[in-house]
Amino acid sequence: MRPSVRGIYQRPGYIYATRAEELARKEGYTRLARLASNENPFPLSPQAKEMAREALDEVNRYPPEYQTCLTEALARHCSWRHIVLGNGMDGVIEAVIRTLIDPGDEVVVAEPTFSFYRVAATAQTAEVRGVPRKKDFSVDVPAFIHGCREAKLAFLCTPNNPTANLTSCEEVRKILDATDTMLFLDNAYIEFADAEYRDLMAEYDHLIIGRTMSKAFSMAGLRLGYALVPSWFVSPYHRASTPFAVNRVTAAAALGALSDLDHVRESKAHVAYWRKKFLESIPYPTFPSQANFVLIDTTPHRGEEMMEQLAKRGILVRSCESFPGLGDHYIRVNIGADWENELFLTVINAL
Ligand SMILES: *Cc1c(COP(=O)(O)O)cnc(C)c1O
Repeated sequence: MRPSVRGIYQRPGYIYATRAEELARKEGYTRLARLASNENPFPLSPQAKEMAREALDEVNRYPPEYQTCLTEALARHCSWRHIVLGNGMDGVIEAVIRTLIDPGDEVVVAEPTFSFYRVAATAQTAEVRGVPRKKDFSVDVPAFIHGCREAKLAFLCTPNNPTANLTSCEEVRKILDATDTMLFLDNAYIEFADAEYRDLMAEYDHLIIGRTMSKAFSMAGLRLGYALVPSWFVSPYHRASTPFAVNRVTAAAALGALSDLDHVRESKAHVAYWRKKFLESIPYPTFPSQANFVLIDTTPHRGEEMMEQLAKRGILVRSCESFPGLGDHYIRVNIGADWENELFLTVINAL
């Protein structure tokens, strides 16, 4: 390691589900059941594909600076005028932190949750304060509000990754009423949930709702995240974010995908069908899910051990040991294609 690399990058960072894949390949599997990354098993919508292909003709030119055509389509889709874009929601999260955080500022996260908030905030010199969720993974609202006292920014994921539960709109409202801290509500899985938070945008000037086209829209490999933001936030966000973060091909695909909402409806129905089956048939304790994945308590086995056992049978799932604040006996499994789900249920019942 060169001595000039910052200390935080000399420690292990974000964990990707690569070990499961290595194990499966070692066993000789080439066709893998991919249930580790909460992706959509359905391919990209044909309309989106067609528009992406056409956009390739113009990639010698830089994309439009603010992708106005796409932001307007997203604004119509969400019924909220002020939209910002990023290279995945991860890119949005990073740019939001860059917009708001000076060195040493506090950032609050309700853990266990998506670990990138902590990684990204730490990388941008914030002090991260983790507020533990309750035993059932619901947010400890008074503790969260208390944690926000000195904070510039707080992250709340609903439905939460990896626990799959919602924080109710009333609870979110309680938090917003009690604090001035900017609240980033991560709605990566909102299309699979029976919940809606968008109406809060009109009432609060310190709320951001993050969304992504990676999950419900099958665009994980194209990287498009966006956020509903208060109007005052648009201009500072543009100053802080990477120029041209969204490329032409991705923007065109997103426009195509937004014109094919049947794709989202089918994905949602597929998830609802299999989610119910998963919760009925998995021979371990599970948790209620409002997302396209379920959290499984694998006691007495360690999550890592279950992940290995499944990988050796060609099934990739996520061991949850790397999520701060979660024990070492959980795995997270997403709804895949029919054959992947059937294989997973057969194998986990036979282990
Ligand atoms: C998948 C995910 C994201 C990021 O998605 P992108 O692919 O970067 O758009 C953000 N938050 C949560 C909770 C996620 O699970």
